[in-house]
Amino acid sequence: MTQVTTPAGAAGTAGDGVMVRAEQVHKSFGSVEVLKGIDLEVRSGEVCCLLGPSGSGKSTFLRCINHLEKINAGRIRVDGELIGYRERGGKLHEMREKEIATQRRAIGMVFQRFNLFPHMTALQNVAEAPVLSGRERKAAARDRAAALLQRVGLGDKLGNYPGQLSGGQQQRVAIARALAMQPKLMLFDEPTSALDPELVGEVLDVMKDLARDGMTMIVVTHEIGFAREVGDSLIFMDDGVVVESGAPREVIANPRHDRTKAFLAKVL
Ligand code: ADP
Ligand code: MG
Repeated sequence: MTQVTTPAGAAGTAGDGVMVRAEQVHKSFGSVEVLKGIDLEVRSGEVCCLLGPSGSGKSTFLRCINHLEKINAGRIRVDGELIGYRERGGKLHEMREKEIATQRRAIGMVFQRFNLFPHMTALQNVAEAPVLSGRERKAAARDRAAALLQRVGLGDKLGNYPGQLSGGQQQRVAIARALAMQPKLMLFDEPTSALDPELVGEVLDVMKDLARDGMTMIVVTHEIGFAREVGDSLIFMDDGVVVESGAPREVIANPRHDRTKAFLAKVL
């Protein structure tokens, strides 16, 4: 990753190879400022790993990228498109829900808790959104859902309900479900933190496979091995700011800031 400092408002236009460009993103909850001017750039096909202590604002930042949280200042563009707002005469106007929903569909999100529908089979969980959004007919959605579940190694579990799957299997269904909307960007928020240690590997393997396939990903994780092996860039956040960023191997081997050193010493 190259950290660029573009002037506020400069266009991250589609076609320049940048998938996500965040500029001076600020976010407060009441009087508490949680994001204090985040800049970040993720190129198409890259994996950006986001690290930082609990409470540093990682989840909030991910939620800003698909406008689940409204930002107070700054700009976020995905594939050149301003998220959540239209710009008219230098002013930002929030989009309508429908337009926001359309933008959101292009961004897959996977959470620590899998949030599968418990009364639906794995296949139904994956096929649901494409049908509901009118994107695909039922038969086509089911065929593709089966292929996606095959891809995440669950070709023999199509008819299982979440309660009949391990945590690692449920998380792989959640990944397949996000992929069913054919997103151009995938956001992962500590996807393996809730898993028993022996189940972490199977989920990371699916994510590695996705990365190899060229998916652009932002991954909040404490899995340093994953960051080192799969990440193209690593961002270390603390207290709502980017403390340092760079090539994962560099940052992990030679952290420059005390806060990064202290954090890595805890998780390594
Ligand atoms: P991280 O994911 O790095 O652990 P979060 O983004 O979840 O951090 O939280 C950053 C800070 O924002 C925390 O202090 C948290 O308590 C606060 N916060 C997050 N969401 C809300 C909310 N909806 N209302 C108020 N405070 C929030
Ligand atoms: Mg979090």
